Amino acid sequence: MPELRKDPVMGRWVIIATERGKRPYDLKQPPQPRHGGPCSFCAGYEEDTPPEILAYRANGNSSGAGGWSVRVVPNKFPALRIEDELNRRGEGLYDLMGGLGAHEVIIETPDHDAHLADLSQGQVEEVLWAYHDRILDLRKDKRFRFILIFKNHGAEAGASLEHSHSQLIALPIVPFSVIEELHGAKEYFDYKERCIFCDIVRQEADARTRLVAENDDFVTVCPFAPRFPLETWILPKQHGAAFENATKHEYGNLALALRDALRRLNRVLDFPPFNYIIHSLPLHDQNGDYYHWHIEIMPKLTRVAGFEWGTGFYINPTSPEAAALALREAGD
Ligand SMILES: [Zn+2]
Ligand SMILES: [Zn+2]
Repeated sequence: MPELRKDPVMGRWVIIATERGKRPYDLKQPPQPRHGGPCSFCAGYEEDTPPEILAYRANGNSSGAGGWSVRVVPNKFPALRIEDELNRRGEGLYDLMGGLGAHEVIIETPDHDAHLADLSQGQVEEVLWAYHDRILDLRKDKRFRFILIFKNHGAEAGASLEHSHSQLIALPIVPFSVIEELHGAKEYFDYKERCIFCDIVRQEADARTRLVAENDDFVTVCPFAPRFPLETWILPKQHGAAFENATKHEYGNLALALRDALRRLNRVLDFPPFNYIIHSLPLHDQNGDYYHWHIEIMPKLTRVAGFEWGTGFYINPTSPEAAALALREAGD
């Protein structure tokens, strides 16, 4: 029987329609052929990108040279630009503002063919530190209200370059989906005086039916009401509202958890295209008791079509319990 499930934070309904018969391994798609390097993100091609914003180098090489492990550059085709004035205005009943923002690319490795999941724990941790360092720098600009960090992997997931990278967008507004999530978490907190995500972590770690993996600081779970097959969330066990305020210990264990989750997805789905998004408290929000940062990983296996556009809720052909079981069994 298909089942309607409600996400406890977003209030978003999904249809888990398992008689459409997609067991986790059935979702495999033929891997796309790679074009191969080199490209402008490769070591030795530093001059092909806009001037670098940040890079980690072990050997003291100067900015713009090789020898880096992680490198951050402005997006060559930015969705938003940092120079613009905010310029909020009205046109009759309509509101507009300038395209103020920052759009950066985090190049996760100098190696064209390396997949994030295959990098060492230390290298993945450096990628996380690059996210951290960029957020700390950009939040000094008080015009920014929210920083989105996300990764598109594979052409079907929106990646225009195959060299492993993630992106950062700083926005002068808090996006609607973020406001919805904050609102859902706040309502639960006002009612129960507990963080809903802390409760989810406890319940899922106890029940274990949707638990994929855990380490000292993180749980990896398939959420109760996933929009997409094998959707996977990584949540810190210790309450924390903002990604950039995590501890050194947590970044180390997040590197392990993220790498582990991607490796499991690769084993079950043969290197699927995917997106991940870091969900974190908006900048300059003082009270984070009710919100809990986390990462949502969404393999790109199904298409969003008329029903989803028309209702805002998703049909998912694979239950999160079956997904979690397959992912648990796909461990190292
Ligand atoms: Zn490359
Ligand atoms: Zn919490």
